[in-house]
Amino acid sequence: MAGKIIIISAPSGCGKSTIINAILAEGKIDMQFSVSATNRLPREGEQHGVNYFFLTDDEFRKAISEDAFVEYEEVYPGRYYGTLKSEVARICEAGHNVVLDIDVKGGVNVKKLYGDQARSIFIMPPSVEELRRRLEGRATDSAEVIDERVGKAEYEIGFAKDYDFQVVNDDLATAIAQTATLIEEFVK
Ligand code: 5GP
Repeated sequence: MAGKIIIISAPSGCGKSTIINAILAEGKIDMQFSVSATNRLPREGEQHGVNYFFLTDDEFRKAISEDAFVEYEEVYPGRYYGTLKSEVARICEAGHNVVLDIDVKGGVNVKKLYGDQARSIFIMPPSVEELRRRLEGRATDSAEVIDERVGKAEYEIGFAKDYDFQVVNDDLATAIAQTATLIEEFVK
């Protein structure tokens, strides 16, 4: 039986990756992470084929022309991210559930595409001010990138209502537990 699709979106810095990784590490839910492709450069510690498939601009364009994506978006100017058909097919056809960590437009599109086979969850920051503090604390991005991400977050929060569920990440452990319950209910 084909697996189900779990879509998780959040503004950058809302703890989305931490939440997904914690649920995967717990190992209680049968789900696998679909590794997306991007033309952005790897951050320190990120690995090709684990966090993303890091492609050159040309390679990304070629993948588009070969119809390799379920969806792709220009999430930041010049920076593209896409869900690979091959990843979703590999995981689903093996009967596992698949988790997609994708931006709001991608998330809304994938939900439309898969309907009841997909559950979409939006992780919210407690507030935009708190989000800025978290991004500054993470210290992986420049001040300019942080400004860009905070502006983008305000825009993205406008899409939260289009998701099946919203989880506020105020306390991390609570947000992990709430997200895990929403996924468990859906895949059981
Ligand atoms: P980051 O550069 O911080 O890893 O990711 C930036 C944004 O791109 C995040 O919101 C992330 O969810 C989104 N993203 C990652 N992979 C995909 C994808 O395959 N498709 C879409 N539409 N967005 C993605």
